[in-house]
Amino acid sequence: MVIKPKIRGFICTTAHPVGCAKHVEEQVEYVKSQPKFEGPKKVLVIGSSTGYGLASRIAAAFGGGADTIGVCFEKPASDNRTATAGWYNTVAFEEMARDAGLFAATVNGDAFSDAIKAEVIDLIKEHFGQVDLVVYSLASPRRTHPKTGESFSSVIKPVGQAFTSKTVDVHSGKVSEVTIEPATEDEVKNTIAVMGGEDWEMWINALDEAGLLADNATTVAYSYIGPELTYAIYREGTIGRAKDDLEATAKRMNAKLSGRGGRALVSVNKAVVTQSSSAIPVVPLYISILFKLMKEQGLHEGCIEQMYRMYKDRLYVGAPAPTDDAGRVRLDDWEMRPEIQAAVMKAWSEIDAENLMQLSDLEGYRADFLRLFGFGIEGVDYEADVNPDLQLQAPGSAK
Ligand code: NAD
Repeated sequence: MVIKPKIRGFICTTAHPVGCAKHVEEQVEYVKSQPKFEGPKKVLVIGSSTGYGLASRIAAAFGGGADTIGVCFEKPASDNRTATAGWYNTVAFEEMARDAGLFAATVNGDAFSDAIKAEVIDLIKEHFGQVDLVVYSLASPRRTHPKTGESFSSVIKPVGQAFTSKTVDVHSGKVSEVTIEPATEDEVKNTIAVMGGEDWEMWINALDEAGLLADNATTVAYSYIGPELTYAIYREGTIGRAKDDLEATAKRMNAKLSGRGGRALVSVNKAVVTQSSSAIPVVPLYISILFKLMKEQGLHEGCIEQMYRMYKDRLYVGAPAPTDDAGRVRLDDWEMRPEIQAAVMKAWSEIDAENLMQLSDLEGYRADFLRLFGFGIEGVDYEADVNPDLQLQAPGSAK
């Protein structure tokens, strides 16, 4: 099958197996080119197949020599559809990890469910004994509650009042003004149910009750703050409410785990192009401007650079992790530098359809977006006939 990108709205419905493997390999090579760190050795990554979770898994494995178990929700190829990018990424990661002599197994299914938690618990018992790091990196539009069966959908909306802002259609380059109506109370509640801390805490409690958390285990989940110009749609919107809940959960769990040398942290990461961030209105225009400025200053990072820095310079420094006053690890420090933000604000106020390409790195955004699905990657022959039907190894058979 010759595979080309098919873009529908803010997703690409095809993925390229060879391109995805190369994208994973590039991240592996980046980590291998950096100094190793003394990090966790038995790692569970929930949301392991794309974006920050995949980068967390790669950096733990190739930077710290960790064995990893991943959890993700991806689709294999069927009829004439390709598999999802996260599926191909996972096949490639597992192969590279095993070639490096590391254990790697992945459970593909709904992480919110009790059944998947039970499956992961069995795997940890069998292969790890205990875990010393649990990364929680889920980004999902919906969740079915495992106890009540209730289904929740998350929305990305402002809270309290409507929000009007510039936005860009990434693919056509059309700059326009968008007004987003405020969320209802139910929508706020449902977004918290999907993206807040409840499921993270359920995972940690389930692992702890099964005796699978090492005494000094760390658990980390990811958050975002961003600049004032996106506050209404992000940090003070529905998703921000969910992040507040996630951060409160971290504090609660930290109080519990710290008694025995463990810790629960939130890391505030930089804005990057992922399947999830592409779906947020306004944010892609901000990211396009930000990337141009950060690239010009030599400060640009993607998921892998951030996650490597998180382990090496934040979580595993042989001392308590440096945090902000609210106890959060900050990896958005370069994004939030006052001179970067001042330059973003200036460009934001001036940007329009005419100067879009001068004031922003929309090309870079588009390229990153395509790379998420394995397209536009150097060294890949996109005219070649490739087999889309790659198999993920059954987790129980992993060695
Ligand atoms: P992503 O879409 O790239 O990854 C989401 C992962 O969750 C994938 O592995 C997917 O398979 C998995 N997943 C989704 N639903 C699942 C389910 N029901 N069961 C099992 N797995 C499931 O997202 P991302 O952007 O890397 O986001 C990860 C975290 O990082 C989120 O908490 C997000 O808010 C945070 N974050 C993202 C950014 C950004 O700019 N992208 C910035 C800061 C923080």
